[in-house]
Amino acid sequence: MNKTHIIIIGQGIAGSLLAHELIKAGKKVLVVDNGHKTSATLIAAGMWNPILFKKLKKSWRADDLLPVLLHVYSELEEILDKKFMYNREIVRLFPSNDAANDFHLAANDERYSVYLEEKTQLEVEAVANDEFGYGTIKGGYIDLPVFLPAFKDYLENQDAFLEAEFNEKDLEITDYGVIWNGYEAEKIIYANGYKTTESKFWSYLPITRTHGNMLHVRADDLKLKGVFNNGQWLLNLEDGSYKMGATFEWDLPEPSPSEESKQKLIKKLESGLKEKPELELVKHHAGIRPTSADHRPIMGFHADHPEIGIFNGMGTKGIMLAPLFAKQLTSLITSQTPIEDAVNVNRFRNKTKD
Ligand SMILES: Cc1cc2nc3c(=O)[nH]c(=O)nc-3n(C[C@H](O)[C@H](O)[C@H](O)COP(=O)(O)OP(=O)(O)OC[C@H]3O[C@@H](n4cnc5c(N)ncnc54)[C@H](O)[C@@H]3O)c2cc1C
Repeated sequence: MNKTHIIIIGQGIAGSLLAHELIKAGKKVLVVDNGHKTSATLIAAGMWNPILFKKLKKSWRADDLLPVLLHVYSELEEILDKKFMYNREIVRLFPSNDAANDFHLAANDERYSVYLEEKTQLEVEAVANDEFGYGTIKGGYIDLPVFLPAFKDYLENQDAFLEAEFNEKDLEITDYGVIWNGYEAEKIIYANGYKTTESKFWSYLPITRTHGNMLHVRADDLKLKGVFNNGQWLLNLEDGSYKMGATFEWDLPEPSPSEESKQKLIKKLESGLKEKPELELVKHHAGIRPTSADHRPIMGFHADHPEIGIFNGMGTKGIMLAPLFAKQLTSLITSQTPIEDAVNVNRFRNKTKD
């Protein structure tokens, strides 16, 4: 029997960052992934953005999440000896004069000014329908197709990765933890994205499958840098190509790219530009964001099975949320430091029991 401390199901952003923190804390882990068959992380744009556009407010816990994000991904760049974190300015076209005024007020408010800038962007003005103006937000992106395989190699080099389908019917709960597929562990943690909802332990959780389409395109005539946002985003990648998205659909059980969504994305981009760009499709992606009812991560251990844990509910913001909350879950495991109520899985259990 192979022994390990913790089995993690899923090597998306949640499983990867949790494995990273546990390894740093001296724990032996085994990450099990089925080849990213249903991965949201692999197809995500990987952006972070500290500001909610519509309300022009900081996104939840932005001031706490961002320093940890910058620290953790640059630490990983060093460990993996790969570059995958890039700063990107997000240029938001204002939909109205009111939106422009709100931005102006926020940019001069010290609570927001660290993230916002009012500056001239000539390459945007050259191509955009910027009738009401635009504002600049400081954000960035993680190149996930670079990060994920590099982190998998790192795990493999320490015998901490297994490419396999985890099937719950093969899981045995013992007096000391769990046994699965010849591995004995103290704990098992579900970090397998929307597929966690199929677990008999976690099916009661209010996790919605928020489907999304995204396009990877080349647009050689378009000289937009950073992220261009006219209600949907266009992210300029390091190799000069663009990712654009994303749609939201709620009635699709599995990822399925659709022609209708592709056309919707192209039309929306065109509405923000003076001229239609020539787009060459590199790849049309679709994925499912695991979204909790209150849009907060879901983590901790099962009330009836303390050897069974969860790290999930990353919704639309896995890149920002996973670094800080992987640290919190690790502290719970290694030193019993309680996790915040706002993200504790038991907030849902308590409600169902009331
Ligand atoms: C179109 C789109 C664009 C997005 N853009 C962004 C963005 O710019 N910024 C951002 O922060 N977020 C973005 N997101 C959201 C982001 O993708 C999620 O928040 C995040 O990836 C969720 O990560 P996860 O690790 O929880 O799940 P996943 O990435 O889905 O990882 C779960 C892993 O578990 C594996 N797995 C599942 N079941 C099993 C099993 N039984 N056995 C073995 N392995 C299994 C899967 O194959 C997968 O590899 C986007 C999402 C979509 C759909």
